[in-house]
Amino acid sequence: MLAGLPLARRLRDTVRIEAEAIAARGLPPRLRVILVGDNPASESYVAAKVKAAREAGCLAETIRLPSDTPAEALLAEIALANQRDDVDGILVQLPLPNQELTRRVFDALDPLKDVDGFHPENAGLLHQGRPRFVPCTPAGILELLEEHGIALAGRRAVVIGRSDIVGKPMASLLTSRDATVTLCHSRTRNLPAVCREADVLVAAIGRPGIVTREFVREGAAVVDVGMNRLDSAEAAPEGLRRSARIRKALEEKGRALVGDVDYDDVLPVAGWLTPVPGGVGPLTVAKLLENTVKAARLRRPGLPE
Ligand code: NAP
Repeated sequence: MLAGLPLARRLRDTVRIEAEAIAARGLPPRLRVILVGDNPASESYVAAKVKAAREAGCLAETIRLPSDTPAEALLAEIALANQRDDVDGILVQLPLPNQELTRRVFDALDPLKDVDGFHPENAGLLHQGRPRFVPCTPAGILELLEEHGIALAGRRAVVIGRSDIVGKPMASLLTSRDATVTLCHSRTRNLPAVCREADVLVAAIGRPGIVTREFVREGAAVVDVGMNRLDSAEAAPEGLRRSARIRKALEEKGRALVGDVDYDDVLPVAGWLTPVPGGVGPLTVAKLLENTVKAARLRRPGLPE
């Protein structure tokens, strides 16, 4: 088992110490989250991030905009947060209604406040091997692998999913650690065979339970990024329907959070496997807090080390 929670707790403890040291010199680090619309999943992710930031000694606030907010109004809100000297980090919760708007939002962020690491300047710095703000999910995964002593140099790594927020930066980070990386997507031929070559397999697809043991080499480290909400057993692939945990969650709560990996099927084969929930999610939040403290340090010269 490759649990994310213990590492996430430690990272958050370190952030708290740093945030307190910064606060002692003036204002605590401040995170501003912009949330468009009322998607329940986004609402709960934002609530978790703001709560975690406050618990770690940062200031955090949510700016809520209605789902029909025009692009110009959203961009104006970002410009305001860019200008405000007391805001260190800005996060615009995804997904936004379309890819074009998402790109415009990334472009509009002040790169020194871009705590998600999605601005093209930060993406470029990462791909050139001189990272500033690293996207939180891949950064958390890399630290989890390193913490467990999972070898990367010279090993085969396969990442499924090529999004700008997870798959691509994950491939870049693994490359920076001297892994030999294959980046797969919906057009990849014979995906299970490609994945079976992996010593480290990262699934960031958004399809419940798609990765079965057919994808996994014996002893491989498997990281499940997927966060998929099931509202009924019928919506689950057959493998997941057999899971006692998922059946129980559906019976008791009427919904279940599942990954891209069929956990019960893969567990006996994998050397390491992250659970959902309790795997990658808490690390994403912890890395966001680290980036917020880093933004405060970058923007406020003279803070103590
Ligand atoms: P995304 O932007 O929708 O990208 C999904 C990727 O998966 C795309 O590259 C797509 O290929 C590929 N894909 C889709 N179907 C496939 C298939 N059948 N075979 C192979 N590849 C396939 O998603 P994302 O934003 O990267 O997120 C992925 C998952 O991670 C989601 O479940 C999301 O909720 C979760 N997530 C979790 C965290 C966390 O903190 N735990 C953070 C971020 C995201 P194409 O490019 O060819 O379309």
